[in-house]
Amino acid sequence: MTLFEKIAARDIPATIIAEGEEWIAFRDIAPQAPIHFLVVPKKCIPRLNEATPAQASLLGTLLEAAAATARQEGLGESGYRVVINNGVDGGETVPHLHIHVLGKRQMQWPPG
Ligand code: AMP
Repeated sequence: MTLFEKIAARDIPATIIAEGEEWIAFRDIAPQAPIHFLVVPKKCIPRLNEATPAQASLLGTLLEAAAATARQEGLGESGYRVVINNGVDGGETVPHLHIHVLGKRQMQWPPG
């Protein structure tokens, strides 16, 4: 099982803030903004690059979940950044697809 599958199974503790049939949202253990949470599919997709056309609906569900959880966290008006790190150059460290949602500070562009 991946780290995030273990969190979804409640084998590893995390601060879970929202959940659906196919996904879970929990606070990042090393937050990079005052609000920083991850939205993760319960069944592992290693990374975006490996998502298949059959998983297109799930990908949409994850984005919708990210927006709904951002609103729940009070980010709807102030805004937020959504990030998916893919592979080595993308800065991916956990090989289980996850959407970062960061808010409550002004983000910069270009990203580092
Ligand atoms: P990435 O670098 O895009 O693969 O992001 C992985 C993220 O998972 C990082 O922001 C980590 O801080 C976060 N992370 C790693 N372990 C945990 C954990 N046990 N609970 C919550 N977040 C975690």
